[in-house]
Amino acid sequence: MPRILNNALEAVGNTPLIRLDKVAKHYDLRCNLLGKVEYMSAGGSVKDRIAKAMVEAAEREGKLIPGKSVVIEPTSGNTGIGLAMACAIKGYSVIICMPEKMSLEKEAALRALGAEVVRTPTEAPWDSPESHIGVAQKLQREIPGGVILDQYRNANNPLAHELTTGPEIIEAVVSTPTTPEQPSSEKVDVLIASAGTGGTVTGISRAIKKKHNKECIVVGVDPEGSILAYPDTLNSKHQGESYVVEGIGYDFIPDVLSRDPVDVDAWIKTNDDEAFAAVQVIMKNEGLLVGGSSGSALIGAIKWLKETKEGREVAEKEEKNVVLILPDGIRNYIGKEWFLNGAMRGERSPLADTIAKV
Ligand code: PMP
Repeated sequence: MPRILNNALEAVGNTPLIRLDKVAKHYDLRCNLLGKVEYMSAGGSVKDRIAKAMVEAAEREGKLIPGKSVVIEPTSGNTGIGLAMACAIKGYSVIICMPEKMSLEKEAALRALGAEVVRTPTEAPWDSPESHIGVAQKLQREIPGGVILDQYRNANNPLAHELTTGPEIIEAVVSTPTTPEQPSSEKVDVLIASAGTGGTVTGISRAIKKKHNKECIVVGVDPEGSILAYPDTLNSKHQGESYVVEGIGYDFIPDVLSRDPVDVDAWIKTNDDEAFAAVQVIMKNEGLLVGGSSGSALIGAIKWLKETKEGREVAEKEEKNVVLILPDGIRNYIGKEWFLNGAMRGERSPLADTIAKV
């Protein structure tokens, strides 16, 4: 591995897998809780991997021509940031179509990378001409050289995770031997990931189940209001309700998401309040600056580990390895109400009185 990288794309992925011992203790778990910390990727999220993979595949297929092609993509922002980074390096123009609800921080990062940003109404159904998907399609029809790489259908989305995220997790777990202080099955026993396009959970599941441990239990996490969870009855209570957490959940089933129980064994629904509270638990206990959907993944994990029979069996065994995907970082959300309410107006520190007197 050369020490000097040629460009930022070579710093995509290869993220650390970090023990979340204090979080595990906080929730009274005996198993190992391990976080795959994706904000440490060059563009700041798990989606850098698919952006790089989709651009490189399209180049190999001759679909992208530097100086001519215009990459247009509907996204909740992180795929856009990954694409804008790749396109800045490779010399393509980029237009990102993103629903209004997504943070200003993501828009700022996109513009910093040279992308054009088009905001679309959050409440527009996915198949309407006003949605982020509809507007991207319209732009593609109008703009010569316009190409939609289409993360919702592009096989390189789950494949990027099958070829990078999954193998990195497996390698980290199998190369860390069990010790009396840190017992380990030396296997990935459970994988938990929140789903947007579903590429992350689907691709990592395939890597683990095909090549490492077919008994691994894969749990998908879907916000209340969305319809990605399986079976559909899980979704009915809150279907269509809006939610604040970004990057996860949809009002349609993307082609790249596998709802086959062979790939995703179980689904857990989560809501905003519990997800945002869980973000605080990770930040305060582990010093990891994770974003909102990381909180969804954690609280989804806790619900599965505490409220299901299979989960309770895992939670009490100290050698079991439960891996959580932590998809992006808090710097995407610093200006959001939910973050400011939690971090800035949270509990008063015992030092506050002394500080006020000085
Ligand atoms: N969390 C965040 C913050 C995201 O941006 C995304 C991607 N939309 C996800 C989770 C889910 O990833 P995937 O699309 O692979 O399901």
